[in-house]
Amino acid sequence: DRIISPQLKGNDGQVDRAIRPQSLAEYIGQPVVKEQMDIFMQAARQRGEPLDHSLIFGPPGLGKTTLANIIANEMGAEIKTTSGPVLERAGDLAALLTNLEEGDVLFIDEIHRLSPAIEEVLYPAMEDYQIDIMIGEGPAARSIKIDIPPFTLVGATTRAGLLTSPLRDRFGIVQRLEFYDVESLTTIVKRSASKLGVDLDGPGCFEVARRSRGTPRIANRLLRRVRDVAQVGGDLIVGQKVAQRALDMLSVDSQGFDHLDRRMLLTMIEKFDGRPVGLDSIAAAVGEDKDTIEDVIEPFLIQQGFVIRTPRGRQVTKRAYEHFDYQLPQDFE
Ligand code: ADP
Repeated sequence: DRIISPQLKGNDGQVDRAIRPQSLAEYIGQPVVKEQMDIFMQAARQRGEPLDHSLIFGPPGLGKTTLANIIANEMGAEIKTTSGPVLERAGDLAALLTNLEEGDVLFIDEIHRLSPAIEEVLYPAMEDYQIDIMIGEGPAARSIKIDIPPFTLVGATTRAGLLTSPLRDRFGIVQRLEFYDVESLTTIVKRSASKLGVDLDGPGCFEVARRSRGTPRIANRLLRRVRDVAQVGGDLIVGQKVAQRALDMLSVDSQGFDHLDRRMLLTMIEKFDGRPVGLDSIAAAVGEDKDTIEDVIEPFLIQQGFVIRTPRGRQVTKRAYEHFDYQLPQDFE
C-alpha cells in the first residue's frame, strides 16, 4: 500500500476524470510522442481513414489511458475500453468488435495479458477488419467470416517485451512513454492544482513534482494529500513549506522514494554488499513479488541511475550509497 504507487487506487479514478487532459494540446511533456501522433492523426484525418493500430507502452501512471482517450477525441471517434484480463472468452472480444462503428477506437489496456485464443481473434480483425466465427458444434461446425467496420486498436502495456511478436507486428504505430522530467511534472501539478481549486504556488508545485517519480498519477495523488494538510492547517496559499511538511509526513523523500524503494536499495547495499544480484534473490529479500519489482519499483530506480542491470544481475550504483550517506565498499566496481 504505497502512497507513491503508480497504479490506480482509492478515488484516483474519479479525480482523474476531472483533471485528465482531453486534447493533445493539454497533454504535457512527451514531446516526441506528441509530435508524431499529431502528424499521424492529421494525415489519417486528411485521408478520411481511421488511425493505424497503435501500441503505447510505458510504466503505469504515465498517461497511456489518457493518450488513448485523446486519440479518440482528436479523431472525432468514440472509444470503447477493455483490458486483457477482462476479456476471458473469444466471444467477448467478437461482441465488442462487431459493435464498433466505423472509425471507433478500441482500447485494450494490459494487452499483454490477452489469452492466445483471444489474440487469434484479434489478428484478422486488425489486419483485414474481419473476424472468424464458429457456427455449430462437433463435425457440423464451420467457420464464417464477418466484416467489422474499420477501426483503430489502441493497446497499452507496461513492457513491450511482454507482447507476442505476431501481435506486436500488427501495430503500425508504437509509442513509448518516458518518465516525465521535473519541469513537465511541475506544469502538470500546476494545471491539476488549478482544476482542483488549490492555490499552490510555484515552489510548492515544484516540491510535489520532484517527489513524484516522474509519474503524473503520483503527482496528482500527492497534490491531493498536500491539499488535505493545507486545508486542515488553515493554509490558504500553499507553498513549498506546507508541501514539504505533507510529503515528509507521507515518508516520501526528496527523491520520491518511499519505504519500499529504500528497502530495496538498502537490501542491495547491506545484504548483498553492492554486488550484482538476481531478481529472485532481491524479491525474496525484500519480500515483494518479482513482477512488482520489475514493473513498479525498479524502472524508476534504473531511470534515475540508482540501480543498473548487468549481465550478472541488478546492482546498486554510487548514487545509492550517496543517497543514504553510506561509504562505498573498498572493492566496489
Ligand atoms: P496509465 O494509463 O499509463 O496508467 P493514465 O493515462 O491513467 O496512466 O494517467 C494517470 C493520470 O495522470 C491521468 O488521469 C492524468 O490526469 C495524468 N496524466 C497522464 N499523462 C499526462 C500528461 N501528459 N499531461 C497531464 N496529465 C497527465
